[in-house]
Amino acid sequence: MTIHILNCASMSPWFPRWRTGTPCILIDTDQGLVLVDTGLGLHDYESPSPMVRFFKLDFGIKNDPENSAICQLRNLGHAPQEVRHIVMTHLHFDHAGGLSDFPHAQVHAHKRELDAVLHPRHWIELAYDPADFKHGPNWVLYDQVTDQWLGLDAIRMPFTPEMFLVPLFGHTRGHCGVAVRDGDGWLFQCADALPTNVQFDLTPDWLNRLVLGPHVPRLRAWASAHPEVRLLAGHMWQSFFETGSSLQPVVPT
Ligand SMILES: [Zn+2]
Repeated sequence: MTIHILNCASMSPWFPRWRTGTPCILIDTDQGLVLVDTGLGLHDYESPSPMVRFFKLDFGIKNDPENSAICQLRNLGHAPQEVRHIVMTHLHFDHAGGLSDFPHAQVHAHKRELDAVLHPRHWIELAYDPADFKHGPNWVLYDQVTDQWLGLDAIRMPFTPEMFLVPLFGHTRGHCGVAVRDGDGWLFQCADALPTNVQFDLTPDWLNRLVLGPHVPRLRAWASAHPEVRLLAGHMWQSFFETGSSLQPVVPT
């Protein structure tokens, strides 16, 4: 079993020294390749919607289509059709932009998240880009907790190695973490429920709650009790990718 952590959207938001990447996880499973989140897609580089154009300026998104999951997959020697399933933490443009590059894949997400796309009612739901869904994704939707995973409510996914969707609602209405069995331990992509590089004290509590949702304090306590779990956030310092995906927090210099 192979797990690759790819950076599928490079950004320098707010300060040039904040150089971040957007981790997407590529997993070789019994059901073919599974991608967790897609990052930006080719259409975000070649014909971005006005909303994505705005965010590309605001977040300093690097205009490099080679960052897209489909280009990186080809560089790893895979055909796009080998990605049979995509599991989404949430459907913001910087996580879902590549969906249309894999139109044949089944797209697994929490039902509440697609509801938020179809019926937005909150400011943070402005970051959904209709262009990401106009090809008509083949949705597989979940809304019932089926398991407890290390004490957290979880939804078992139909793959080996074991994978769980872990509801972490707050950043968006149906935002979930994704846990993947990795040898004797686990990789847990908490996405935008955690601040950059899982640095729990990077941003003040009020800002975390406003932008990331309510889970930072409880995930901090939970993580200290589970050293067998490697945590990922939805945005990691680029040094994380450049140093062979070492999961130690690295403060930018
Ligand atoms: Zn987000």
